[in-house]
Amino acid sequence: TPAVSRPDFRLPKSHEAFARANRVIPGGVNSPARAFGAVGGEPPFMAKAEGAYLFDIDGHQYIDYIGSWGPMILGHGHPHVREAAARALELGTSFGAPTVREAEIAEAVAAAVPSIEKVRFVSSGTEATMSAIRLARGATGRDKVIKMAGHYHGHVDALLIQAGSAATTLGTPNSPGVTAGAAKDTLLCPFNDADAVAALLEQHRGEVAAVLLEPIAGNMGLVPPGPGYLEALRALTERHGVLLVFDEVMTGFRVAYGGAQALYGVTPDMTTLGKIVGGGLPAAAYGSSAKVMDRVSPAGPVFQAGTLSGNPLAMAAGLATLETLREGHAYERLEALSARLAEGLGRAARDAKVPHVVQRVGSMLTLFFHDGPVRNYDDARRSDTALFARFFWEMLARGVYLPCSQFEAAFVSAAHTEADIDHTIDAAREALAAAA
Ligand code: PLP
Repeated sequence: TPAVSRPDFRLPKSHEAFARANRVIPGGVNSPARAFGAVGGEPPFMAKAEGAYLFDIDGHQYIDYIGSWGPMILGHGHPHVREAAARALELGTSFGAPTVREAEIAEAVAAAVPSIEKVRFVSSGTEATMSAIRLARGATGRDKVIKMAGHYHGHVDALLIQAGSAATTLGTPNSPGVTAGAAKDTLLCPFNDADAVAALLEQHRGEVAAVLLEPIAGNMGLVPPGPGYLEALRALTERHGVLLVFDEVMTGFRVAYGGAQALYGVTPDMTTLGKIVGGGLPAAAYGSSAKVMDRVSPAGPVFQAGTLSGNPLAMAAGLATLETLREGHAYERLEALSARLAEGLGRAARDAKVPHVVQRVGSMLTLFFHDGPVRNYDDARRSDTALFARFFWEMLARGVYLPCSQFEAAFVSAAHTEADIDHTIDAAREALAAAA
């Protein structure tokens, strides 16, 4: 553990567990961000989670602002989700055969998300974006895909080009192992620059299958679309006969029940979902109009399959999550809590005289140590990551579990309380004083 102003904060059991894991797992983790590489230290190993809290094996309790990197919008172990998953478990964990619940959750998704009439379930966001671009290519007969620098769409070869999230954090936005062949049909643009997309579409007239983006970027820290940007992309893609694909793996059911497309009133041609749609179990999805989706096997020729796709436990947890979100007042609560947190963090940073900006959409937010607004990948990368690392550890020592990188969004859940938020703001004041 790096030196913090709370010398009693130690992680001896986690240290031992990490050494053990490192002997048999690369970097000791099954997904790179978890290793805390960007902030220079070793991660606490978790024992359990409840509501808004995580508990590590060294006996610390944390207010959790990662929420499993997005899925846990209701907090951990919400009773509806738990009961639904437990009932499903009793009936069998995997059949490799269709179930009624798959149609039920597909109906819920189609009712919620404006661009979706039909939807196919897969097991990870990576699979969803991989399948979505295959379908876009299959549907248009074109090869090229435009993606935005700093956006992350999972570890799909063709999309690991200037990729955000852990790929940026670890300094490998372009991964070795991605062949020139896989990369050659990916065209890159800065986010929030519709003119750049227009220029590429002109230059590659008749060659572009899809413009793919996070409508609200969450994987370079939280960066909202500028006014008119999504509308401009909608008009451009229509004009060029290109499919507009929103990757709402992170924003779907998060910024609004219908995702970013419902929030901004811009309907893409295709949408990918993940995280919340599985309620904390492995599920993701891609959907579009019936006409486009009916090109997917076995209805059509574009092949896509999965042994555990539509897994009964994941479908049960996902459906229970969607029903709870739809029927409750989660979004009002999330908005109020998150606004309180954003204001408090901003005030704390201002009082500490630290160059900063807090960017937020709904319950996704980032405190950037950056002087002025962050609009794209280049802005984000000019943030003070060394200060972020010191701040991160000071917060962890005070029982606040933030994303361990400047290039990730924090998530508030409906299980957080005003007291949790106020404790977090108090911790931030102390942490900034110690770190700055
Ligand atoms: N797309 C976005 C926008 C994401 O944030 C992520 C994961 O963070 C993915 C795709 C990949 O999802 P998964 O990690 O489930 O493969």
